[in-house]
Amino acid sequence: MPDRILVCVAWPYANYLLHVGQVAGAYLPADIFARYQRLRGNDVVMVSGSDSHGTPITVAADKEGVAPRVIVDRYHEKILEVWERLGISFDLYTTTLTENHYATTQDFFLRLLEKGLLVPRIEDHLFDPEAERFLPDRYVEGTCPVCGFLEARGDQCDNCGSTLDAVELINPRSKITGATPVLRPSEHFFLRLSALEAPLKEWVGKQAHWRRNVLNFTLGSLNEGLKDRAITRDISWGVPVPVPGYETKRIYVWFDAVIGYLSATKEWAQRQGEPDAWKRYWQDPATRSYYFIGKDNIPFHTIIWPAMLMGYEGLNLPYDVPANQYVNFSAGQKQSKSKGTGTWMLNLLDTYSADTVRFYLTSILPETSDSEFREEELVRSNNDVLIATWGNLANRVISMIHRNFQGIVPSVESLAPESEALIAAAEAAFDSAGAEYNACHFRNAMQEGLKVAQAANKYLDDRAPWKAVKTDLAHAAETLATALNVINALKTVLHPIIPFSTALLHEDLAQPGTVLSAGWHYEPIAPGTELHPVRPLYAKIDTASDAAVSA
Ligand SMILES: [Zn+2]
Repeated sequence: MPDRILVCVAWPYANYLLHVGQVAGAYLPADIFARYQRLRGNDVVMVSGSDSHGTPITVAADKEGVAPRVIVDRYHEKILEVWERLGISFDLYTTTLTENHYATTQDFFLRLLEKGLLVPRIEDHLFDPEAERFLPDRYVEGTCPVCGFLEARGDQCDNCGSTLDAVELINPRSKITGATPVLRPSEHFFLRLSALEAPLKEWVGKQAHWRRNVLNFTLGSLNEGLKDRAITRDISWGVPVPVPGYETKRIYVWFDAVIGYLSATKEWAQRQGEPDAWKRYWQDPATRSYYFIGKDNIPFHTIIWPAMLMGYEGLNLPYDVPANQYVNFSAGQKQSKSKGTGTWMLNLLDTYSADTVRFYLTSILPETSDSEFREEELVRSNNDVLIATWGNLANRVISMIHRNFQGIVPSVESLAPESEALIAAAEAAFDSAGAEYNACHFRNAMQEGLKVAQAANKYLDDRAPWKAVKTDLAHAAETLATALNVINALKTVLHPIIPFSTALLHEDLAQPGTVLSAGWHYEPIAPGTELHPVRPLYAKIDTASDAAVSA
């Protein structure tokens, strides 16, 4: 029986271009995982979408004097372009502006209300007396009560990183008029996280398979005690509150964004023409759901969303939340940064091929600690590892078969022990790399594949088929056929990381169907198969001309 797996990926705000750090933090790992699971023949659905609500969007819209929707549409298109060009294989990438999402969010709201987990409370909020409106988080600035930074935002201080409540700011001022806000009471709904603390603690206590940092952070927050959180705001952009008397308020963005995982799965099911198909991914307890996010998002996915799901009842809780640390940018990147190279994903893809970028980013995925992006390391990884260890291996072997065997895979009488050992290593890589992919250790998975490529290079050097073709054709045939079978195996093992070039290689090896349809297993190439003409899978990056690009 294939496993059923739901891959949920963080919802980016649709008001900026995607940064390399975000892609390495959540989207690339999610895609590698989904591709691996599909290769295994598992039943996978991967969803996400553009977070279209929230004050980051309205602040950007106000600045340009346009409707929020204009901002969302513009950046949603740019985000879709990144997925297309980088090969991020979503089953659905939608937005939170759909009717389906509004209905799903309001249903969630009403169910929690009915169960007494949402309660109205009156509290004082900041109000701009000149603009005559309330000032949600990012509409107010002031001095940070923690570090004294003069331009802290209402929701967070960018200097010390503290999460703030707007009423805590010292000398607050409205970002709309500059006026000093006054306190005015306003009624809002609160999610009673305090009522769900005990079941949450019990559930988190059983998640021994989570990453250490995710588990520790979550347990730390739970031990400090959970405060009830307001889930509505005095704003006009967002999902309407489905309760009379709340017409001037909206559901706050963090509450509706996490529901996006559910609404997107429903939308995917509708688009499949099977509207109930979402239930298999949310109601069957055997389905495993993975949430790929950055570490700043941990509490929303290990506490708040699970609390909402427990309150709703009947829907699966997260199985794993493999949150990543951050990718930092070195001081040496400053020059490229000014041009945007190396920081914005689309700029990087203008300069380098998708697989070159994916290969390098996989090698620096911040799985256990922060990592560093360096453009010169990307170039080195392309030239000295991707090409030197892997691309040249495939190219050399296919070329020699064309040159010496008319491009026809030679048959082999018997295998020497070193040939058998190399094939055994390639077969074993399906298990070892597979275990690493399945555990979301993608850097290790890549190393498992590269280790076999290194062994194949050594095998070729030791047996020197370019010499043997002149003296012992059977020896050369054995070497090249063995190496070719190992290349065919590594094509599959590395496919989740470098899908574009391995798909081309699959064609060059004259294999039927696709890498995906061939599946996750060792499959020797039949003797007599006529290989396609060889083509280089990767381009060497000229470091001199690249320096000219970045400088
Ligand atoms: Zn501060």
